[in-house]
Amino acid sequence: DYHIPVSGGILKEPATHIVHIAVEMAPIAKVGGLGDVVTSLSRAVQDLGHNVDIILPKYDCMNLSNVKDFHFHQSFGWGGTEVKVWFGKVEGLSVYFLEPHNGMFSVGCIYGRNDGDRFGFFCHAALEFLFQSGSCPDILHCHDWSSAPVAWLFKEHYRHDGLSNARVVFTIHNLEYGVHHIGKAMTHADKATTVSPTYSKEVSGNPAISPHLFKFHGILNGIDLDIWDPFNDNFIPVSYTSENVVEGKKAAKEALQQRFGLRKSDLPLVGIITRLTVQKGIHLIKHAIGRTLDRNGQVVLLGSAPDPRIQNDFVNLANQVHSSHADRVRLCLTYDEPLSHLIYAGADFILVPSLFEPCGLTQLIAMRYGSIPVVRKTGGLCDTVFDVDNDKQRAHAQDLEPNGFSFDGADPSGLDYALNRAISAWFDGREWFNSLCKRVMEQDWSWNRPALEYMELYHIARK
Ligand code: ADP
Repeated sequence: DYHIPVSGGILKEPATHIVHIAVEMAPIAKVGGLGDVVTSLSRAVQDLGHNVDIILPKYDCMNLSNVKDFHFHQSFGWGGTEVKVWFGKVEGLSVYFLEPHNGMFSVGCIYGRNDGDRFGFFCHAALEFLFQSGSCPDILHCHDWSSAPVAWLFKEHYRHDGLSNARVVFTIHNLEYGVHHIGKAMTHADKATTVSPTYSKEVSGNPAISPHLFKFHGILNGIDLDIWDPFNDNFIPVSYTSENVVEGKKAAKEALQQRFGLRKSDLPLVGIITRLTVQKGIHLIKHAIGRTLDRNGQVVLLGSAPDPRIQNDFVNLANQVHSSHADRVRLCLTYDEPLSHLIYAGADFILVPSLFEPCGLTQLIAMRYGSIPVVRKTGGLCDTVFDVDNDKQRAHAQDLEPNGFSFDGADPSGLDYALNRAISAWFDGREWFNSLCKRVMEQDWSWNRPALEYMELYHIARK
């Protein structure tokens, strides 16, 4: 069974001390969903009354204005260099920043420079910091290939020392990267998770995973309701809840149209917010832009491509569609968090046609803003989006009502099947569509339940 039963009994136990060792943390050092999860899972677990610390590299490219009470904490010698430890509060969480004198994290970026060596050093230094400062955490939680070394370094060097009470929990956010590190960490971790039940099944045959299924669980990610809150969001024009969703979204759509010089008329607007990588279904995204324009809709895409060839490809596409359909489409090929809020609020649909998707946060954020997800049925998208025509029973089994549109295949006709129904529903029944927006806003995709599942897992790990 991939699900963790939540007994509730854990709430009566004394506080657990959890230390996350991670290379991303939203909003100060975020590249993708991993950064969001570290912050929002930690906040949810802290809100349950537990003690959570985070250890992060001190990147030079980090925006320290989001860190409160930032100050020097201590320094220690290790690995032939001096490591300075800084402390500060991020979103109410205690964060220790490691700054090795050798300048490893002062290279202007989070990823992209000898990452294996830098993050291997970071993991070992983080354990050494805990050891030298006499910390006795109950749980060491590490993430993806980048902090996977914590699992085996702990078992090889620290298990018998001061840190002996700790158990290692390892979370896979994406198995695509660094599978050798992930395999090795799977062997040494006490418990391992990935970020949705369906993805846990999809990867269960992978040789890095299959020998370890007995300690492997799928726990869905949530979103932080304080960070993603249309009632309290500085980046959208009108605050709204499910009660005034129509009014709130109308104002946001107009602001979006105004900002990009799109025609200010009542048309279905498809939003796409994504890293532009093969995983995210690039060919389907391109197809969807054309399809939406054919159906007289509008499209706003916010996406950046780490691969310059893909970025180039989209720059060309942008030039093309901006001249052929200037009043109905805008591709913003950049990373822009404030703009993402306005798109989540102003779009009618958020499209996520991923080829695979461990959990996916965009569809969850979309629903929080009353936008209807149109997704490919894979991984966490399958666990969170229930098609209005095809998934009633599956939704009811989870005590939910259907909340979006989905498709199976990875070809344009699959995408058309979902997108055409979505756009038709918008044109043909605005009252029904508006009630769907209200309904998805009221669904709970927060960390409330997943945080309990993690606590249950920590509890089992310590037994
Ligand atoms: P992944 O981690 O694979 O990138 P997720 O769906 O788990 O995908 O998380 C994506 C997160 O990054 C979401 O919070 C989304 O809003 C944000 N995001 C992705 N691309 C951009 C962008 N170009 N600008 C702003 N935010 C983005």
